[in-house]
Amino acid sequence: MRDILDLSLEDLSSYVVENGYKPYKAKQIYSWLYKKRISDPEMMSDLSKELITRLKEDFYFENLKLVTKQVSKDGTTKFLFELVDGNFIESVLMVFDYGYSACISTQVGCNMGCRFCASGLLRKVRDLSVGEILGQVLYIQKYLDLTQERLANIVVMGTGEPFDNYDNLMAALKIINDPLGLEIGARHISISTCGIVPKILQFADESVQYNLAISLHASNDELRSKLMPINKAYPLKELFKALKEYSLKNKRRITLEYLLLDGVNDKETNADELKDLLRGQNAYINLIPYNNVDERDFRSVSERKALDFYDMLKKRGISVTLRQKKGDDIDAACGQLRAKKMKEER
Ligand code: SAH
Repeated sequence: MRDILDLSLEDLSSYVVENGYKPYKAKQIYSWLYKKRISDPEMMSDLSKELITRLKEDFYFENLKLVTKQVSKDGTTKFLFELVDGNFIESVLMVFDYGYSACISTQVGCNMGCRFCASGLLRKVRDLSVGEILGQVLYIQKYLDLTQERLANIVVMGTGEPFDNYDNLMAALKIINDPLGLEIGARHISISTCGIVPKILQFADESVQYNLAISLHASNDELRSKLMPINKAYPLKELFKALKEYSLKNKRRITLEYLLLDGVNDKETNADELKDLLRGQNAYINLIPYNNVDERDFRSVSERKALDFYDMLKKRGISVTLRQKKGDDIDAACGQLRAKKMKEER
C-alpha cells in the first residue's frame, strides 16, 4: 500500500492509464483530494465502483493521525501528528491580521544541531515523504474548512532542515501551489534554511518563486559557528555570496531571521557587523523573540531590549521587522511538543 498523497498529477495519470482508465480520471481523483478535500474514496462519486475498489487496494488516503492539539489564547494551534510508521511530527496554525498561516515540518527530528533549538534535541530519524509534507497543509486546510476559512500562507519553518530534504519538499510544494491542487500562491509560501549553500544555488534556478528566508542569528563567523554548526561548512562569506547570486536571478527580497538571545547577539557591535554583512544585499532582518527551551541555556531578551536592538538596526539604515510572539502559553518552540511526547514515551 502506498500513500496516495505521494503522487503528482502526472504519477496519478500514469497509474490510471496503466490500470486501463482514461487519463482524465487522474484529474478527477486529484480534484477530490485537493479541491473537495475528500479522503474517503467511496465518496468520490464520479469514479466507478471498480476504480474505487482498485484505489482502496493500492493506496491509503490518510497519512497523519492527530495525537494532540493545543490551542493558545491568541489562536495559535499546534498539532501533534503520528505518522504511519509511529513517528511524530508537529505543525502549527497561526492567525495573523492578513490571514491564516501554517508552519510545517520537513523531517522527523533534525541533524543541523543548532544550539538553541529544541528540534535538534533528538537527531534526524528520517526525511518526511512528499505526502507527509503536503499532508500537513491538507490537514490544516480541512480543519479550516469546518469554518469555511482558507489558509493564506505556508511557512516551511517547522522541525527539520527543508534543504536537507529538497526534492520531497519541492514536489510537495508543487501540489500545494498547483491551481488544480491546494492553490496557495508561490508568493505566499516561504522556505527557511539554516544556510546550505549548494541548495540555495539550486533553489535560485527554480522556476517557481517561493520566498527564501535564512536563519542568520549571528553577525560574525565565530558566534555563528558556535550557535549553528552548519556555519563551519558554509561560513558567512560563502552564504552571502550565494544570496547575492540568488538575488541576481531572482528579484525577491530575502528574509534574514535573527533570534534575539539575551547577552549573546544583541549588542551594538552585532548591529555594526550586520550593517556590513547586509551591504549591497536585497535583504531585510526579521528579529525573532526566542521561545525558551528547558534543555537549552539561552534566554529571550526582554521586550525593551528587543526594541532597543530594533532601533540600533534602524539607526544604521537596515530594513528590519520585529516578529510578533505567537503561542506563548503553549509548547510553541520548534520541536517542543514532539520532544515532550518522546520524553513521555521513554
Ligand atoms: N531548519 C530551518 C527551518 C526550521 S527552524 C532553519 O534553520 O531555518 C525555523 C526557525 O526557527 C529558524 O530560524 C530557527 O533558527 C528558529 N528557532 C529555532 N528554535 C527556536 C526557538 N526556541 N525560538 C524561536 N525560534 C527558534
